[in-house]
Amino acid sequence: MEERVLIVKYGEIAMRGNNRQLFVKRLVETIRKNIDQYGSFYVVREQGRLIIESRGGDINFDVLVPKVNKIFGILGVCPGIKTDNRDIDSLSRVALKFFKEQGIPKTFKVVTKRSDKKYPLTSNEISAAIGGFIFDNIECIDVDVHNPETTIFIEIRNAVYIYTNFIKGCGGLPYGSSGKAVSLISGGIDSPVATWLMAKRGVEVSGVYFHSPPYTGERAKEKVKDICKIISSYTGGFKLRVVGFTDLQLYLLENVPHDKLTVFLKRAMMRTAEKIAVMEYSDALITGDSAGQVASQTLQAINAINAVCTMPVMRPLCGMDKQEIVDKAREIGTFETSILPYEDCCTIFVDKHPETRPKTSVINKIESKLDKIDEFIKKAIDDMEVIDL
Ligand code: ATP
Ligand code: MG
Repeated sequence: MEERVLIVKYGEIAMRGNNRQLFVKRLVETIRKNIDQYGSFYVVREQGRLIIESRGGDINFDVLVPKVNKIFGILGVCPGIKTDNRDIDSLSRVALKFFKEQGIPKTFKVVTKRSDKKYPLTSNEISAAIGGFIFDNIECIDVDVHNPETTIFIEIRNAVYIYTNFIKGCGGLPYGSSGKAVSLISGGIDSPVATWLMAKRGVEVSGVYFHSPPYTGERAKEKVKDICKIISSYTGGFKLRVVGFTDLQLYLLENVPHDKLTVFLKRAMMRTAEKIAVMEYSDALITGDSAGQVASQTLQAINAINAVCTMPVMRPLCGMDKQEIVDKAREIGTFETSILPYEDCCTIFVDKHPETRPKTSVINKIESKLDKIDEFIKKAIDDMEVIDL
């Protein structure tokens, strides 16, 4: 019997010894979460692969492929068929039928992978037999082993799988397999991309957003929630904390040199985020900084801002150009929301000529006289709003 199946290939987790079972289990769960609303499926484990089969009825690849391929940890998928008819004659017939359905190319080759070593023919013998059969039964077709238009893959496992097409997926590691981090998310273009990139590497992410009502509005906050909702479609849930920074910001405005205000504000953000991360047993912070993009992202400024944290701060965009970040934001679907024009608390009260090379020692010295910062931070954390998206 043959049936259409989606063959799912996953990546690096295959190399990670002990945790492998756990990661595969997590992948299966995530796949289920993403596809169960579109039909009734089995997700079956095969060595190094997952196979999605329909529980009756046909399988709609157009619907399933994008849903599966956006899952972190998946290298790509192959729409194909599964057959239990293992003898070489029936395999040849099934392969020919499937091949014809895909549209006949000018040239082809057959590549076989034989995981079942008990199978009576070697991989090369299987390829030669099936290739010969296809060649004999289709007019005007040639074998080209170097640069074929179509390659037919035959995988001999518990069952036999046949496919011609590999559709590239998201890559990365299964979500939650690389520890936890708290991401500083503004409503801008950058921080959602930074958050997504770390999630792609298996980090379980949650967000903290600082706002300063009434200087920043309700719509700015809604925008951040919308962005986090988009991220949650990749991660299967997202926790956002909204932290009020108005009092702290007004205090800084009164007490620090105006051209260095952003540096002090960012330091307060990092301190607050680190405290939240410790409370939640997270291992790192994430920001959307990109080296040199604005005054507070020169290495000197990053140095002065970073000095208040002991936790590692991931800045996955540091080596990316703005256009590359924009392209990524479009690809993951956050761009259109990010460009809605609402104020961020970093852009209110900013100086016309902000300091681009703040000295950490100078900043430390000024700050040592500001004895209310810790109090403001504590109150902001006590009062923060937590939203599950
Ligand atoms: P983004 O596009 O992410 O807003 P940006 O290019 O506007 O970044 P900055 O405003 O300097 O740059 O912010 C740098 C980083 O600081 C942001 O990527 C984000 O991680 C963090 N950040 C800035 N504003 C906020 C905020 N209101 N709440 C939480 N994090 C913030
Ligand atoms: Mg911003």
